[in-house]
Amino acid sequence: MADVKLTNVKKVYNNQVEVMRDINLDIKQGEFIVFVGPSGCGKSTLLRMISGLESITDGTLEIDGQLVNDIPPAMRGIAMVFQSYALYPHMSVYDNMAFSLQIAKLSKEDIDTQVRKAADMLQLTEYLDRLPKALSGGQRQRVAIGRAIVRKPKVFLFDEPLSNLDAALRVATRMEIANLKESMPESTMIYVTHDQVEAMTLADRIVLLSAGNIEQVGAPLELYENP
Ligand code: ADP
Ligand code: ADP
Repeated sequence: MADVKLTNVKKVYNNQVEVMRDINLDIKQGEFIVFVGPSGCGKSTLLRMISGLESITDGTLEIDGQLVNDIPPAMRGIAMVFQSYALYPHMSVYDNMAFSLQIAKLSKEDIDTQVRKAADMLQLTEYLDRLPKALSGGQRQRVAIGRAIVRKPKVFLFDEPLSNLDAALRVATRMEIANLKESMPESTMIYVTHDQVEAMTLADRIVLLSAGNIEQVGAPLELYENP
């Protein structure tokens, strides 16, 4: 389970740039939440605060009722997928996906089961021995998603994961993410994009951000049919 709750969250960079004013949001376990808004409105900052990569200036951010800052990073159960895949270039697809599980000292058998399951889910089985440079952009992004899946995170954070892909790959990878939502219904998914189609097709609820405030929250049809 993983509810994510933001209460009066405020973010100021360098004591002067106010990026978040007063964010209140209750994200339920298993929900697929999409944050949309123009470039610079603070979407990435919000994800980095949830992951603990960025401090919170004021307010509270809780995961399952626990303050995020009180949870050691390795125990947060959060996996992040970025727009640049950030794969380890010298490691095979298999090793890229296995790495975090090796760090966590899982047994070889458990690692193998997890990696093969994720590879199967993402249609990567035939590429497991390849290096990242021998993959297309879409395949690389699927490896990045696979690396997140194997850890069975409670919360997935996606930061514009499709924006570096060409149009065809973007549609295919979007469908992979929609499938992921079906196959891991207990995981909470928080997704940032400026693409309205992505938001419409993936979201249970869309949060529209503007200049550090939540402008609107609603199901896709509520938001875009009755603006
Ligand atoms: P988005 O993801 O919506 O494009 P960001 O969260 O990246 O927005 O940035 C929101 C605002 O905060 C922007 O004005 C950006 O310049 C500023 N900002 C982001 N990161 C930093 C930082 N590390 N230091 C100072 N300002 C930052
Ligand atoms: P995006 O909009 O794609 O999320 P940005 O180009 O806004 O990414 O930011 C990329 C990186 O640069 C982030 O790590 C962010 O913290 C940092 N950054 C963005 N704006 C600023 C800023 N004004 N001052 C310092 N760092 C910044």
